[in-house]
Amino acid sequence: MMGTVLVTGGAGYIGSHACAALIEAGYQVVVLDNFCNSSPVALKRVGEICVTPPICVQGDVRDRDCLDKIFHAHTITAVLHFAGLKAVGESVDLPLEYYDNNVVSSLVLLAAMQQAGVTNIVFSSSATVYGDPPSVPIREDFALSPTSPYGRSKLMVEDILADWHVANPNWSVCRLRYFNPVGAHPSGLIGEDPQGFPNNLMPFVAQVAVGEREKLFVFGDDYATADGTGVRDYIHVMDLVEGHVVALEYICRQPGLHTINLGTGNGVSVLDMVKAFEHASGQSVPYEIVKRRPGDIAACWADPRLAETLLQWTASRSLAQMCEDAWRWQQGNPRGYA
Ligand code: NAD
Ligand code: UDP
Repeated sequence: MMGTVLVTGGAGYIGSHACAALIEAGYQVVVLDNFCNSSPVALKRVGEICVTPPICVQGDVRDRDCLDKIFHAHTITAVLHFAGLKAVGESVDLPLEYYDNNVVSSLVLLAAMQQAGVTNIVFSSSATVYGDPPSVPIREDFALSPTSPYGRSKLMVEDILADWHVANPNWSVCRLRYFNPVGAHPSGLIGEDPQGFPNNLMPFVAQVAVGEREKLFVFGDDYATADGTGVRDYIHVMDLVEGHVVALEYICRQPGLHTINLGTGNGVSVLDMVKAFEHASGQSVPYEIVKRRPGDIAACWADPRLAETLLQWTASRSLAQMCEDAWRWQQGNPRGYA
């Protein structure tokens, strides 16, 4: 056994896949989730995928008593901190909720970890901390200028972690900046289950392909990109969570403050994605070009070389695999976990 990892937000989209990858790699997993944006069914499904199911605690990361009980009951060696709110548009309307959930939870978690003597943490940051980059691909040393309360909450936690590491240099802190996670576990048992109207491209496309929605609205075709539509770095969620497992192994032998992009290094346009999804699903994905979405940038993709150098990790799954796995999940679970 490789030790026990606390996964906050472990019932969510990325967290549930991370639980499966950690258990697969030989870790024991304790999940803390308040299910504000997820279903306990996701964790049951992880239990079907893996030989040993994760231990589940329903609770809020801001609840110090709850954390203390977990650290008392289990010998935790590291924490993967996924819990948080993540909708950019919603964060503009509900900034206090976003700062409270994302920043306060991290403060309470660090204090509880300190008391328990747990000194390894991996934090889910986002490429959104770069804002509109001066050029692509984006390196970790680029200037940071998030443009939404969500993005600023991520940057605040990154800064808190850096300050914390100065005061506690024996800690190992990893800030992972994700590009655009998509796809699903190859079993089709777990995947992304957006509540209501999907904000992100891939789940929207999948819902159009399965017939849940009539057409995709493409937000602008007049960007300075090859076909005029927005370009992003889509990364298969299985690659992303495997990146977490190697990052965890790395930080446990290498104390320090580490900041690493997790992306593929490939830019894919909205229309490329539509074509790839049509091919993978055998369904047509009708679309209509509409005006740009406020706050969107033209192009964003990672320079993934630091992850390759430090972690010997690169994303290996193709765009076709991302679409095939998302389609398997969507077809098998047209209403998600409901
Ligand atoms: P998600 O909403 O599916 O998962 C987050 C989980 O955290 C949910 O299960 C939710 O119920 C739980 N949660 C939220 N607040 C909580 C709290 N206070 N206490 C306990 N549980 C709480 O989101 P996701 O896509 O899996 O994202 C995971 C992390 O990765 C988030 O921090 C997100 O900001 C970050 N991230 C996501 C993306 C993306 O595109 N999905 C990109 C970059 C970064
Ligand atoms: N997009 C789109 N229609 C949608 C959702 C997204 O055209 O319904 C575009 C969006 O403008 C961007 C790309 O798809 O160029 C990825 O958007 P997403 O919200 O998934 O990721 P983010 O913009 O946060 O990187």
